[in-house]
Amino acid sequence: MGVTKKILVIPGDGIGQEVTAWGKKVLETIAANYKHTFTFDEGMMGHVAIEATGDPLPEETLNKARQSDAILFGAIGHAKYDNDPTLKVRPEQGLLKIRKELGLYANLRPIKLFDDLLQASSIKPEILQGADILFFRELTGDVYFGEKKRSDDRATASDLMIYHKYEVERIARRAYEAARTRRKKLCSVDKANVLEASRLWREVVQEVAKEYPDVETEHMFIDNAAMQLIKDPKRFDVVVTGNLFGDILTDEASQIAGSMGMLASASVGDSVGFYEPIHGSAHDITGKGIANPLASMLSAALLLDISFGLKEESQRVIRAVDATLRQGFRTMDIANKHTPNDFVLGTDAMGTQVL
Ligand code: ATP
Ligand code: MG
Repeated sequence: MGVTKKILVIPGDGIGQEVTAWGKKVLETIAANYKHTFTFDEGMMGHVAIEATGDPLPEETLNKARQSDAILFGAIGHAKYDNDPTLKVRPEQGLLKIRKELGLYANLRPIKLFDDLLQASSIKPEILQGADILFFRELTGDVYFGEKKRSDDRATASDLMIYHKYEVERIARRAYEAARTRRKKLCSVDKANVLEASRLWREVVQEVAKEYPDVETEHMFIDNAAMQLIKDPKRFDVVVTGNLFGDILTDEASQIAGSMGMLASASVGDSVGFYEPIHGSAHDITGKGIANPLASMLSAALLLDISFGLKEESQRVIRAVDATLRQGFRTMDIANKHTPNDFVLGTDAMGTQVL
């Protein structure tokens, strides 16, 4: 029996527009092949929304989001904001607000290397082979949301790093549940030797750990974790960490998968799931038709699995991506410098190959 679901697509800005079209096509193809009924609506967010309405997250988009069963998002951002911190209305505000409003507190980032991309990474193949990590980045706390201050003479600035016990507890539980379905190892990353917020983080994870005696727990400082990730990525299974450390560690970890253009993420919480590539709007390549669509297509695969429980359909998408890479098809970000036989394709040709 097919399922009936409502999906909101928010392409956003820059290459978000170009790649999300392919994530949506994945969902349409799966619906057709497996006799599911997916209905689609579209919403504005980010720079495009500011230009059209003055608001980075219009009320209309938020309402549509609340009424949908899952959200497929692209990216936000525009070059004009990068060098002008005085602009008060900014695209990122839309993203931070939608996460808060929808209670999306856990950002899951699976880092898995497709065999054919071993050579595309800047890390040695023997270190990489077999690496398979699932990151849980906390999304609602930390320096992103603590009080921000600037002195009257503008010469001193501070951002408050703040965590509440319940925030750490709920993401730790989700991470432990996931570890149970994997290799039963959890690494919690903090800076408890220096930061009070990290000491709370560690205490709470230690508490939650007691509920999961079958999972092996390790606590690691962020500086060490950043080093271990490159030195021996295979030692990690599930990694749980705060908002800031998670942001940095997962960009670093993207190099394990060969490119930012390969990595999908899921933000989940109490209600609707939100799926997006980990990359941003990439204005340097916007409009050139060369962006890698795979991160968006793999985000659609995550959506099928996590929000709809359609595991077979999700695996089908991952196998199609794998088969495409095996045939030597590449976008420029994952083109193999050592094999001149690769076929380097643009966004649309690559998306077509997968489907
Ligand atoms: P934002 O400000 O929205 O985060 P950004 O300018 O920081 O955007 P990112 O999207 O984070 O850019 O990407 C960083 C680099 O990785 C860019 O130089 C971009 O060219 C490259 N990149 C990111 N995503 C892709 C993709 N899907 N395909 C190819 N290259 C990509
Ligand atoms: Mg960026």
